[in-house]
Amino acid sequence: MNLPKEGRDKQEILAEMERYRTGDIDYKKGKIFSLIYDHSDEHTAFLKKAYTLFFSENGLNPMAFESLKRFESEVVRMTAEMLHGDSGTVGTLTSGGTESCMLAVKTYRDRLLKRRPWIRRAELIVPESIHVAFEKGADYFGVRLRKIPLDGNYRVDVSKIGRKINRRTAAIVASAPSYPHGVVDPIPEMARLARERHIPLHVDSCLGGFLLPFVEQLGYPVPQFDFRVPGVTSISADIHKYGFGAKGASVILYRDIDYLKHQFFISENWPGGIFASPALLGTRPGGAIAAAWAALQVMGAQGFLQNARVIMDSTTSLIQGIENIPELAILGKPNMSVLAYRSVDEAVNIYAVAEQMEQKGWHIDRLQRPAALHAMITPRHRDFIGQYIRDLKDSVEYVKNHPGLELQGNAATYGMIAKVPFRGMIKKQALKMMMDLYGPQAKSIDFSESSGGIAEKLGKFFIKKR
Ligand SMILES: *Cc1c(COP(=O)(O)O)cnc(C)c1O
Repeated sequence: MNLPKEGRDKQEILAEMERYRTGDIDYKKGKIFSLIYDHSDEHTAFLKKAYTLFFSENGLNPMAFESLKRFESEVVRMTAEMLHGDSGTVGTLTSGGTESCMLAVKTYRDRLLKRRPWIRRAELIVPESIHVAFEKGADYFGVRLRKIPLDGNYRVDVSKIGRKINRRTAAIVASAPSYPHGVVDPIPEMARLARERHIPLHVDSCLGGFLLPFVEQLGYPVPQFDFRVPGVTSISADIHKYGFGAKGASVILYRDIDYLKHQFFISENWPGGIFASPALLGTRPGGAIAAAWAALQVMGAQGFLQNARVIMDSTTSLIQGIENIPELAILGKPNMSVLAYRSVDEAVNIYAVAEQMEQKGWHIDRLQRPAALHAMITPRHRDFIGQYIRDLKDSVEYVKNHPGLELQGNAATYGMIAKVPFRGMIKKQALKMMMDLYGPQAKSIDFSESSGGIAEKLGKFFIKKR
């Protein structure tokens, strides 16, 4: 496609855009268990109004639009209060979880290097289940990750942290909960260790920040994870996940301005003027900032609580349903609405089960190490859990009665990719696939699993070699 010579008719453009989306996943039918954190059509309509009110405003310069700075400060205060911070708790809005996590990496790196300027490479101690955003941040900012294995319940093994601490350790990181398994790390124990060794502790609660406080209020057992735990120095929480804001909003909070100051970037000599930036982006979309504020205002504590009840009821049904299938088992003990399950029957390959589920129209996320399937529950799923469980039962039966399915199609590819000992090969092949996607010949490539997306593209390479 070339840039049209003359601008086209607006109605025609909008109609064509609708046509582009015909192949997209229909999230409103509850078929997807990741990517979309959807509250209700009514909530979305309200968010759009709030967003468009500040469509053109820019949060780049915190002093330019008083409204945006006010939204930001008030979102930070509301979040700090919810997570039991005090009057000293500070923070910024960011564009999402990845930015919040990457900023934590940069902040603690800079804090360490300010104190020990002779250190070449700062280190961050993280659980193996930590979100990949930390790996990305470490890669971008030249920090070394020291990964700690998980225990039998998929929480980080605290006993293995101590020996990784050294003079280069910038911070320890925990998840509340982890994305792969939905399990909260033993944060009080980690915080005790961090305090003894005078090391900051960041809690990545991007996923749980706006849900766990309410799950706790409902009386579910929630391990302590927030500022009530002495030693927790910062927390990231995504408004565009369970805060039900518009996409492009997350919060990073610090116990003290002495930490936050290392996040800021200042250039005093730029010909464009003295430049002071609180976070990663330059231009910051006013719409996302405004919608973040509006989302918290319209939900309120009662709304979040009500919402948590709906989500946890669905999650409980889902967990019971999975536990009633003898061939399957949940990984660890999920603390909220995110979970993974695997096969405990040699005759049932879990990736083959995923294939069957996709044939029934579900969009299924696969995990590796160990092989498992993943689900994240939103209010939208309430009416679909029963069908999901019935289809899962049927899929397990089908796989059990049809030996060899694990050797076919995507199931075979996933199985093989998981077992390839040379991870460098996988990385190389994934890079090649990205170059195809973004290269000069880039077509719109169908990435969806059911049509043989990433697995098939990676798989072809390995199958050829065999
Ligand atoms: C989603 C998530 C992130 C990254 O957030 P994005 O908004 O996708 O950039 C980080 N940590 C956890 C635990 C997450 O679930």
